[in-house]
Amino acid sequence: MGRMIFIFLICAWCLPGPVPAGAEPDFTDLRRAMAVRQIKDRGIRDKTVLAAMETVPRHEFVPRDKRSSAYRDRPLPIGFGQTISQPYIVALMTELLGVDENSRVLEVGTGSGYQAAVLAEIAASVYSVEIVRPLHDRATGTLKALGYDNVVTTHADGYHGWEKHGPYDAIIVTCASEFIPPPLIAQLKPGGRMCIPVGPPFKVQHLVLIEKGKEGKLTTRIIASVRFVPLVRGGN
Ligand code: SAH
Repeated sequence: MGRMIFIFLICAWCLPGPVPAGAEPDFTDLRRAMAVRQIKDRGIRDKTVLAAMETVPRHEFVPRDKRSSAYRDRPLPIGFGQTISQPYIVALMTELLGVDENSRVLEVGTGSGYQAAVLAEIAASVYSVEIVRPLHDRATGTLKALGYDNVVTTHADGYHGWEKHGPYDAIIVTCASEFIPPPLIAQLKPGGRMCIPVGPPFKVQHLVLIEKGKEGKLTTRIIASVRFVPLVRGGN
């Protein structure tokens, strides 16, 4: 009798389950684990940021063949020599910006559109500039398909910011610059914050947080050592 139950159990185990062999992993579980282990356990406290990281389907922003790696603790290639940042860096930069439901945010470096989507979960509106046309086109399509109507994208050199929609409560630059572009400082509201990797291309850079006081006085703080792809110039 014992042996029969054993055989039955084995057979039941072998039966095809609801998930067919070769199917994609359960992204919801992977995303939840990422939000806890990579984000919350490392000290991100802002509840809106944690909720956004648990909500945005990161796998939709990476190339098809990278989907199963989307929630790993690392940056991933997105084509054209560019990368989508490691989830923790996305969360850290988002938290540093201190955005809320009234914020108007500028992003330089749309890339995959993932960081823009995370910001769009929290802020009123996100304006995102990308210099590589095919990346701009793809990210625009992804954001639209996922219903992020509060993200507006453009193909341009983000060194100049996007004056038309400014000034901004927060500015995030997701490519490294050797210095802080003056147009971005000009487009930051008094009381606003900017987060930008500053340093030489393809070397270790500093993630810098800039706060513009109510009277326009700037204070800067180095937050971490990072490695971002470089901010390039031209293209429009
Ligand atoms: N935020 C992105 C990651 C972007 S990687 C994401 O969530 O996926 C950095 C991006 O900055 C690349 O797509 C690169 O093409 C873009 N970039 C580099 N220089 C730029 C410039 N001057 N203006 C706008 N985008 C730029």
